[in-house]
Amino acid sequence: MGDDKYYTLAEGCPFASNRTAVLMRDKQGGGLGLLQDTQLIETLAHFSRERIPERVVHAKAVGSYGEFEATRDCSDFTCASFLNKVGKKTPVLQRVSTVGPESGSADTSRDVHGWSMKLYTDEGNLDWVFNNTPVFFIRDPIKFPSMNRSHKRHPQTHLPDANMFWDFHVGNPEGIHQLMVLFSDRGTPKSVRYMNSYSGHTYKFTKADGSFKYAKIHVKTQQGIQNFSREEATKIAGENPDYMIQDMFEAIERGDYPVWNVYVQLMSPEAAEKHETNIFDMTKVWPHKDFPLQQIGRLTMNRNPRNYFADIEQAAFSPSTMVPGFAASADPVLQARLFAYPDAARYRLGVNYQQLPTNAAKAQVYCPFQRDGSMRFDDNYGGDPNYVGSWIKPTKFYQDVKGTNPGALSLHTEHEKWAGEVSAYSSEITDADFVQPAALWEVIGREPGHQDRLVDNLVSSVKSVKYPELRKAVYSLFSRVSKDLGSRLQKRTEAAIKAA
Ligand code: NDP
Repeated sequence: MGDDKYYTLAEGCPFASNRTAVLMRDKQGGGLGLLQDTQLIETLAHFSRERIPERVVHAKAVGSYGEFEATRDCSDFTCASFLNKVGKKTPVLQRVSTVGPESGSADTSRDVHGWSMKLYTDEGNLDWVFNNTPVFFIRDPIKFPSMNRSHKRHPQTHLPDANMFWDFHVGNPEGIHQLMVLFSDRGTPKSVRYMNSYSGHTYKFTKADGSFKYAKIHVKTQQGIQNFSREEATKIAGENPDYMIQDMFEAIERGDYPVWNVYVQLMSPEAAEKHETNIFDMTKVWPHKDFPLQQIGRLTMNRNPRNYFADIEQAAFSPSTMVPGFAASADPVLQARLFAYPDAARYRLGVNYQQLPTNAAKAQVYCPFQRDGSMRFDDNYGGDPNYVGSWIKPTKFYQDVKGTNPGALSLHTEHEKWAGEVSAYSSEITDADFVQPAALWEVIGREPGHQDRLVDNLVSSVKSVKYPELRKAVYSLFSRVSKDLGSRLQKRTEAAIKAA
């Protein structure tokens, strides 16, 4: 009857019926379950195991597929093959997330948005794991868990907590630049389609001869920046907490594909030595006028996931996933992420997560030194040597992947020469940390009413801080950006507390 004819157990046995358990019935109409009812047992047991660990950060996300098209031959600064021909197209998976709140939370909350892209290049996958802000809250990786905990739920009340949030930021003021962006209009973007993203970190574009340029990457929306006001974002959070997922899905369904232009800022190693700020400090940008943006490509998202869990929830991104021609810099936060992201994926998805279809490279993979482990889905390289230095010719699995790009050989050898001491990494805060936030305050001042809205957004958070001393410390922090900002914040926050 009905749809029963389609269904089988997971191991192939056809269902008699997909909507009834088999019971030892009694006359009153009850029944006792039977261990032999495999269909019932499998149905219940699998349901209890449908969830995998939620990402500790970046849990709530919008995802889609699309393509990156090179708009410039970039072989003057990189040997990466996806960038070496105008018009060359590379498939892309994109996942854009809030950071702190959980998977079911509102995607219009005021938060930084993570912006991950997996470029399935012909030389293997390249993950660009960016944010929608050009800077970050910290520059010492040991603070990463602390920073995130302070943005999440209080250990006792299980509530988001302004005391905890501001206590962290007063004690770690290097985040002031990022706070300025977060409480500006850009802290509540209208949807994925209307935001930019930035590498934040300095990376390196490298060539086969071992030379390199430092780089920051900017992904700028062709739809134009659009943001919600605080009031609109709050209202939508209540009415439709999945607003951004819906907006993107429906835009792609109706063929209104969002497009971004991709740019680089390049800096030579010599210029880096003379540069006014530490280029490995991700609380700083490179001024546009000194390091102009050069367009390298265009990103178009044009295909919705076929299944959210398979395509987006099981996706794993890591800045360590690179291709020849693109490399990490000595930014300490980036160095830590190179370890932490694959480590998180191994915990969340298992050691063979790279084989899941959404993560699997479209280029040839031959990695017989990475074998076995739970949920190995393929033939595990058959009998090929699982040790290095073998003279036994590999079997059918062998492909000559080496030599396609001589840059592959320089991937791990072209690095800067290093001489230094092992010491604690200084996170000392100086007046220099307030120069760029002050410049942003001026940039924001060019737009009518924007400075006022930034103050207002801060007031709505700081007024919930119950310790007067902590509030004072917040005013002092913002006074170092601008005396005017600090005093407006103080006046309006204290007035709001009195009026409450
Ligand atoms: P510019 O005047 O050349 O750049 C100002 C930039 O500010 C704009 O290009 C725009 O970036 C960005 N911007 C505008 N409104 C906001 C906002 N609410 N939040 C974040 N960014 C905003 O000057 P500089 O390059 O010298 O930078 C001045 C300040 O601008 C910096 O201190 C930094 O805070 C901010 N900024 C700089 C960026 C850079 O890479 N140089 C990138 C983003 C911000 P966009 O064009 O990317 O939209």
